[in-house]
Amino acid sequence: MENYKKIIEDIYFEVKNVNDIGKVANYIPELATVSSDNFGVNMTSIKKESFGVGNFDKKFSIQSISKVLSLTLAYRFEGAKLWNRVDVEPSGNPFNSLLQLEADLGKPRNPFINAGALVICDILISHLKNPKEDFLAFCRELSNNPTLSYNEKVAQSEKISGFRNIALCNFIKSFGNIKNNVETVLDFYFYTCSLEMSCKELSEIFLFLADDNFTTHKGNKVLTMSRAKRVNAILLTCGFYDESGEFAFRVGLPGKSGVGGGIVAIHPDKYCIVVWSPKLNKKGNSYKGMLFLEKFTTKTASSIF
Ligand code: GLN
Repeated sequence: MENYKKIIEDIYFEVKNVNDIGKVANYIPELATVSSDNFGVNMTSIKKESFGVGNFDKKFSIQSISKVLSLTLAYRFEGAKLWNRVDVEPSGNPFNSLLQLEADLGKPRNPFINAGALVICDILISHLKNPKEDFLAFCRELSNNPTLSYNEKVAQSEKISGFRNIALCNFIKSFGNIKNNVETVLDFYFYTCSLEMSCKELSEIFLFLADDNFTTHKGNKVLTMSRAKRVNAILLTCGFYDESGEFAFRVGLPGKSGVGGGIVAIHPDKYCIVVWSPKLNKKGNSYKGMLFLEKFTTKTASSIF
């Protein structure tokens, strides 16, 4: 960790001064109220050493990053059966696209695009008694952090403006790949997206994908080594929608972004690093977040390749 601190700090200040050509997401009105000046970075090593710079402690809307947590819980319930409902192929399309679903008969390409996450939410609803409460309890156990919660305002804001997700969910239902009530699935999905965490909290909650020996504070193993490896593989190939190739090319780590401007990147066996900067590039990924991580893995020579 000591070796990384100065590098993180130097790159942070270098990138902070770069002209940000991104735009804050405004299709969810509540997200547009967040100041675009926020910029934070936090790294947590598998030895649980943590280091942060800038707004690393400020909570933000994790949005699609929650798709990794919902996939993890569904994977625990379903095991390999899960892949009958959701594929593991990069989509090469925007995160909210309806295009491939028709040809693929309602089977989403992967769990990290909206279509896939909606099916994952449907699966969780079939398993959980109180989906919202139970999912939150799972996240709290994973991070040993009882303060984690949803942001009601963000969830409601997305609910009244989520026309594409409403279309996606109905379309998948028409193929029979949504089993529960469409409104119930959408409501749960919007809440999962509204989870709030800081860079520090995110870098802690995702340690289970970096550390093969990770157990929760209650002594529970989250995923087997084999399953964690598979989730990391999907993160590398699908974590950034139609920019997943670019992220692997420039950064070289499995990771996941969200339209709140957060990016989580995982170096298996070493660390988890999280960047937050709300302005997004055209593909919906944080402009400065990607730039920071590209410089970081280059300078530390610590990509997985
Ligand atoms: N809640 C957002 C949506 O469904 C999540 C998208 C994202 O973060 N890429 O549109």
